[in-house]
Amino acid sequence: KEQNRDGYVPLYASFESFYTRHVYRRVRDCWNMPVGSVPGKYITLLERESKDYGWTFQMTGKKVHCINLGSYNYLGFAENHGTCAEAAIKAVREEGVGTCSARRELGNAHHLDELDQLVARFVGSEDAITCAMGFATNSMNIPAILNKGCLVLSDEKNHASIILGLRLSRATIRVFKHNNMRSLEKRLREGIVNGQPRTHLPWEKIFIVVEGVYSMEGSVVRLPEILALKRKYGAYLYLDEAHSIGAMGPNGRGVVDYWGCNPRDVDVLMGTFTKSFGSAGGYIAGSKKLIALLRRGSHAHAYGTAMSPPVAQQILSSMKMIMGEDGTDEGVKKIRQLARNSRYFRQKLKQAGFIVYGNDDSPVIPVALYMPTKIAYVVREMIKRGVATVGVGFPATPLVEGRTRFCISASHTKEMLDHALGAMCEIGQQITIRCSRLPRRKE
Ligand code: PMP
Repeated sequence: KEQNRDGYVPLYASFESFYTRHVYRRVRDCWNMPVGSVPGKYITLLERESKDYGWTFQMTGKKVHCINLGSYNYLGFAENHGTCAEAAIKAVREEGVGTCSARRELGNAHHLDELDQLVARFVGSEDAITCAMGFATNSMNIPAILNKGCLVLSDEKNHASIILGLRLSRATIRVFKHNNMRSLEKRLREGIVNGQPRTHLPWEKIFIVVEGVYSMEGSVVRLPEILALKRKYGAYLYLDEAHSIGAMGPNGRGVVDYWGCNPRDVDVLMGTFTKSFGSAGGYIAGSKKLIALLRRGSHAHAYGTAMSPPVAQQILSSMKMIMGEDGTDEGVKKIRQLARNSRYFRQKLKQAGFIVYGNDDSPVIPVALYMPTKIAYVVREMIKRGVATVGVGFPATPLVEGRTRFCISASHTKEMLDHALGAMCEIGQQITIRCSRLPRRKE
């Protein structure tokens, strides 16, 4: 297994780029397919053919309509209808698509200040700052928060954007086992050096960096235990809620809400708008002091072009709907429907004998395939049966822990989920991936 000095494998641009370089080139027919529709509960994929082992493609002109179990459209806000879409269309008409300027210059569209305040209110923090890209929210803000004198304890399954941000910060990185509190405490003790009080530490600060819901594992962070460890050792906590904000908790306010914790106990709350809000961009929320620091020192804020008005408007409308501020109970209904759909699909897969990873409440549902060669087969066969899913392998997972991942949405109906289950069972029988006798991984 290739590993860098900080414990993470090298970051390939994508799963596909790793496979095209190292394994084989013919898998590109079934992922990275051009999309010709809204990525809602259904998706239209445009078929293409490769003549020379995946180097060049020709469109066949055929459209494949699929049930979409691959996009992160957790609450169904990606669908292009309803009041949210109308508001975004109005924003395009009135203010155009691009801001053509950084926020410090002429790019401070009036939606953006309102969005900062709404996000802070939604997640329950003092202040918040928003960025045009979710990936850059991690990779460009982390270097402004951490520096060379910090020790970072990072979950081994953290997202590439976090790893990049940590590397750019030049902090010392120590990786702990996924969601494993004993491993984290061991790392904390190592960092404390002979149990000396915090003021005498060699580190300026110790940061624990974790995610809310892990996108390749479907697991939920053990937040109460991490908060207890953080208090015990005087560390700080950075929590990436990209997959949990909107999707987890009775009020959709992420894993903090799910575990009933106080959001002010988390020092840095990060999240993206690309999943539950059906839009683009990300946010960092925390104390007024932290956000002031980022307004001064974050490269994403200072040098990146500001978020576009329709994108910001989509977030404002969907977030207000989740908060019930649009005067309807649509948002709460969506959150409940997502929870019901996720539990139903996961339970049915388990009953069918598949090895399913993750927490029962998570809308991310990975199914173990193990062999890398089975990943492309399953994705291709699912598309043939009218279901679009995602195949995941190295470097996003260990080499022999390939999986297919289903992302559940509140807009899926029971019939759609049953169709996908039927297709998965058929394929499972063909390539013997249904095997309830294999040991289940510990949560
Ligand atoms: N953090 C996590 C945990 C993610 O999974 C992702 C991408 N899915 C990002 C950050 C980057 O966000 P975006 O896709 O919005 O750029």
